Amino acid sequence: MKHVAKTVAAALAAAALGLPGVVQAQDYPGSRPVSAVVPFAAGGPTDKVARELAQVMTKHLGATIVIENLGGAGGTIGAKKVAQAKNDGHTVLIHHIGMSTAPALYRNLGFDPLKDFEYIGEIADVPMVLVGNKNLPPNTLKDLLPYIKANASKLSLANAGIGSASHLCGLLFQSAIQTELTTVPYKGTAPALTDILGGQVNLMCDQTTNIAGQLKANALKPYAAMQPRRVEAFKDIPTAAEQGLSNIEVKIWHAMYAPKGTPQPVIEKLSAALQKSVTDPGFRAKMAELGAEAVPAQRATPESLKTFLGNEINKWTPVIRKAGVYAD
Ligand code: ASP
Repeated sequence: MKHVAKTVAAALAAAALGLPGVVQAQDYPGSRPVSAVVPFAAGGPTDKVARELAQVMTKHLGATIVIENLGGAGGTIGAKKVAQAKNDGHTVLIHHIGMSTAPALYRNLGFDPLKDFEYIGEIADVPMVLVGNKNLPPNTLKDLLPYIKANASKLSLANAGIGSASHLCGLLFQSAIQTELTTVPYKGTAPALTDILGGQVNLMCDQTTNIAGQLKANALKPYAAMQPRRVEAFKDIPTAAEQGLSNIEVKIWHAMYAPKGTPQPVIEKLSAALQKSVTDPGFRAKMAELGAEAVPAQRATPESLKTFLGNEINKWTPVIRKAGVYAD
């Protein structure tokens, strides 16, 4: 009874002050689920990270987190939808490095990663591997390079659209080998992988969270790990640098955001649940199994994500400008 009286008093005070968010923040999350928008196709790398996280975070938040896949345009369609969603803590975005590359890539992005979101925290880092259809003749990156030079007009490179991780990685690869390949965009690398396996497209830079099973089953040809060190779960795949190609390293980080103006107490609750989730042994083990690494709790915070996102934008903008790639 006392609590009800307090809540009513808070509601009246909030209404008088024009602060409609105060009462919702107190009661958050309540019984309504939280919709987590994944801006890529279901079954893909970001979706896998998101679904594993949703399972454990549901427990720590005390509300069901439901994944909503909204793929297309390299993740920008889903991100824009969340930027414009109701800021009541019931819609969040789970996105990756594309949040930092999209501003340089898109002339009309329709949202600003630095102005239109509240930051909840980072989730996991995922390595990338350059893979090809298993019937491609070359077995190593060393053999692939002359093969590409001789067959560039016939070879295609899949990606998840401009602004996706596969797009960025493919961009770095093509620039390093100074050869342009035909690129084929998909709504995510899950559908792209189906076509790589079927031979409709030839090559793709993909996150290990999407291809771990196929790598273990030797269903793909792995050409290079696109990071400075070999991937812990796939030690037999040499890095690109080991095979003579440097400056094409890219680490795919994932993070969670809410629309701008989501009340701070709500953000704090979401971030606290995220911090508990990234340190959950089950979640960490699942990420490791997929070749990924859950971040430490101190990176699963709004402050850390805000700083990191700013740094990543500063890092990638000149690289993209130099490549001269734009989308409308
Ligand atoms: N993360 C994307 C996906 O989930 C793929 C990509 O960014 O390349 O499909």
